[in-house]
Amino acid sequence: MNEFDVIRRYFTRALPAHSHGAVVLGVGDDCALLAPRPAMQWAVSSDMLVADRHFFADTDPHGLGHKALAVNLSDLAACGARPVAFTLALALPRVDPVWLQGFSDGLLQLADAHDCPLVGGDTTRGPLTLSITVFGEVPPDQALRRSGAQPGDDIWISGTVGDAHLALLALQGRVALTPEALAMARLRLERPTARVALGQALRGIATAALDISDGLLGDLRHLLSASGVGGDIEWRSASTLMAVRSLAPAPALSESLCQQCILAGGDDYELAFTAPATQREAVQQAAQSCAVPVTRIGRISTEAGLRLWDAQGQSLDTASFASFDHFV
Ligand code: ADP
Ligand code: MG
Repeated sequence: MNEFDVIRRYFTRALPAHSHGAVVLGVGDDCALLAPRPAMQWAVSSDMLVADRHFFADTDPHGLGHKALAVNLSDLAACGARPVAFTLALALPRVDPVWLQGFSDGLLQLADAHDCPLVGGDTTRGPLTLSITVFGEVPPDQALRRSGAQPGDDIWISGTVGDAHLALLALQGRVALTPEALAMARLRLERPTARVALGQALRGIATAALDISDGLLGDLRHLLSASGVGGDIEWRSASTLMAVRSLAPAPALSESLCQQCILAGGDDYELAFTAPATQREAVQQAAQSCAVPVTRIGRISTEAGLRLWDAQGQSLDTASFASFDHFV
């Protein structure tokens, strides 16, 4: 199979009939053609996954296809944008039909679910690397940004956080989990859910948002500094975020391990967002309309920096919860 067979066989599909007219031309020409709807803004984001850096090279290809697109859709979600289309740049060490079938199935199933067709890309030989660029649309001036948080706003988190990192530790043999807990955590690591509907539902409600990919506290710090504010987090509220803790019986995990997973874990792809206290009802309604739970974990303050408090009002050290950085 040559390069063009690979593209034709695994990455070329008929465009969905109802792609909102936004995609005029997909895979096969020198460029894809996208037709922006009048008066909409484009939201564009790229995310790259590199073997042995972001995932184990022997990871199930179906899950990997899902995750490669999910992490990109998560960026659109964080901006409140609606997915329109995406491109895929792919470096492969060899043509492995079983791997390619699994990967493209996982990728394109998620693309179909979001009505977000693959419209082009590039395919080359090289160390396994997956680079996706997504295009979304958002009404002018309604995109959620990192920079809008105001003192007094609540800090909210969608879904569950920390389980992906717990799964990673378990797969590395650093933590022992029951089969049920491992299965639950692994799903979060290998099949993250981008909060695409929630992001759009929060337009006009949230004052700032971002998706949590590198660790809750570290990513929140990005939002705080973009907004020029500080924040206070209650560990009592944040500690409920980990999904495996809701299993019965709950796995015996130390408090410090849970703190590490929830506060610094990464790979969760949940939304962290802020909203005025007057919008609590609206936030809950938006969350319910998307069937995604949301948890209030703290508050924005004028005092710069991010502080963590225990149930007794004692401050906890946050220095050990640095977020992931490729160059540190
Ligand atoms: P060119 O040499 O003009 O850049 P290519 O030969 O690289 O074009 O690609 C041929 C067509 O296949 C183009 O439409 C390109 O967008 C598409 N394509 C290449 N690789 C992929 C991929 N991995 N997924 C989707 N489309 C792809
Ligand atoms: Mg090319």
